[in-house]
Amino acid sequence: MYRDAVNALGRDPEVFAVLENGVLKGLYEPARDGAEIVLVDFDSDEGKDLYRHSSAHIMASAVNELYPRVKYAIGPAILDGFYYDFETESPFTEEDLRAIEDKMREIVKRDLPFRKTMVSREWAMEEFRRRGDKYKVEILEGIPDGEVSLFQHGEFVDLCIGPHLPTTGRLRAFKLLSVAGSYWRGDSGRDRLQRIYGTSWNQEGELEAYLHRLEEAKKRDHRRLGRELDLFSLHEDVGGGLVFWHPKGGRIRTVIEDFWRKRHLESGYEIVYTPHVGRSSLWASSGHLEFFKDSMYPPMKMDDSEFYVKPMNCPFHIKIYKTALRSYRELPLRWAELGTVYRYELPGVLHGLLRVRGFTQDDAHLFVRPDQVDEEMERVLAFCLDILRSFGFTDFDLFLSTRPEKAVGRPEDWDKATVALRGALEKSGLPYRMDEGGGAFYGPKIDLKIKDAIGRSWQCGTIQFDFNLPERFDLAFVGEDGQPHRPYMIHRALLGSLERFFGVLIEHYGGDFPIWLAPVQAKVLPISKDNLDYAREVRDALVRGGLRVEVDERNEKIGAKIRDAELVKIPYMLVVGKRDQEAGTVSVRRRGKGDQGAVSRDHFLQKTLAEVEAHQ
Ligand SMILES: [Zn+2]
Ligand SMILES: [Zn+2]
Repeated sequence: MYRDAVNALGRDPEVFAVLENGVLKGLYEPARDGAEIVLVDFDSDEGKDLYRHSSAHIMASAVNELYPRVKYAIGPAILDGFYYDFETESPFTEEDLRAIEDKMREIVKRDLPFRKTMVSREWAMEEFRRRGDKYKVEILEGIPDGEVSLFQHGEFVDLCIGPHLPTTGRLRAFKLLSVAGSYWRGDSGRDRLQRIYGTSWNQEGELEAYLHRLEEAKKRDHRRLGRELDLFSLHEDVGGGLVFWHPKGGRIRTVIEDFWRKRHLESGYEIVYTPHVGRSSLWASSGHLEFFKDSMYPPMKMDDSEFYVKPMNCPFHIKIYKTALRSYRELPLRWAELGTVYRYELPGVLHGLLRVRGFTQDDAHLFVRPDQVDEEMERVLAFCLDILRSFGFTDFDLFLSTRPEKAVGRPEDWDKATVALRGALEKSGLPYRMDEGGGAFYGPKIDLKIKDAIGRSWQCGTIQFDFNLPERFDLAFVGEDGQPHRPYMIHRALLGSLERFFGVLIEHYGGDFPIWLAPVQAKVLPISKDNLDYAREVRDALVRGGLRVEVDERNEKIGAKIRDAELVKIPYMLVVGKRDQEAGTVSVRRRGKGDQGAVSRDHFLQKTLAEVEAHQ
């Protein structure tokens, strides 16, 4: 263990850093009783941010040494890395990035301490004005008069709250990744800046693993695979963020939907269908026009009314609820809908299938008696996890968000709902994290994130209580006592939306879907055109048997047919030649595994059906 005194927190010399085997563990301060208090743990998010933000300072100082005329904007830590915005005369090139990296290595070697100085705002303003750093001056203009902190390592001074690493020498593994255009304060009306992105890690191995993940992510990019495998497209001329499912994408969606419906019906859900548009009065009652209007498509005028395309399905399910006087005996009601909704998203944030404007939620609303809520939450969470596991996800991040300061609903209802959600999480046996005060204003919730094959986390399901809508629409059921009672309402999505989930699935599997999801499960490859009729006969028989099968009708050599089928990741190739035709067999090739020998058509069908069944 190694310790060095730090004044990075401006509390020199009481703070010290602790290293183990050369790896930073944390920043500590001594407590009165001789024990130590951890100020920053480098395994925590806060520690990582500190590390990466310090990296941004070091990068800026390297830029300063190489290009003294550059002006500095801001340099925060971000997920897995950091950036710094600069104003330059000409854009940074790939070579510049490598030169900056080399200079950073020098600065790390110099092992310069980060020193904090408190100065008056006036003094700082004068100093940055003298240096020509107009962005720092503008930041200072927005700060109330008083003292501000400056951090300096070597000659480089930055306006910053801190904290930072003790010295530049503590930065271990880093790499500059890319440069992109940006705007001062993110405003396209303001000065154009150059943003350099970098990543930094406490250990070499972590950096390598991260760079490998980036490489993998590029290979798995669903937008590229969507094109190569002919799954979907987006068309700016039709509208941003609107998804076109091609036949092969459509096949996968059909499989997902069929599976989804089957599992819901087996689990006590009913399936409902509701309209795509609704009169403005509905959205006024639901509160959407008050709180959610900016995220809605603008209204259409018709019959002296305004109609809105739905951004959510909830009010429609409530309309169904209210068509009858509900008895306590009917509850819980579980209504699910693959409901297509439209929401306005800024053009700049749209991203393939992951951030779109039109999407189909796998929505459900549960109307539950207070005495049923514990059991129902346990059940719904288990159902969500079970479905997600069926798609090959085994690693989950679970979050429980509780009552925020501003909230509607009775505190006792919040408590009861939170207890039920917590109980469900405990029962699942999975670890979960608390997001205290992070719930929506209308109820506590569980958020479910899935980890994909390369360790990235994706938000999918939500189980969300709502104490607002039942009030607004005056929902009731008749209790055993003959009196009206308010049901609990729970919004639930488990895949999130079909579009986004499809994007995640493509990246998770890298387009190499398991047999039950593969859009084409087998491709029949005739060796010559004499075998074409037989190939079609095989296809027809297998399709009738319930498989998704195509024939390669092209006049190509068999080697080319095999290669092309492998390329679009088809699980089975069925080569058919003269001998197969005579014997009624197919010669099976498994993608990535090669020749599996000749079997009868029916044998292949039964075996593959069993394989499909086992995956579900
Ligand atoms: Zn800083
Ligand atoms: Zn809802």
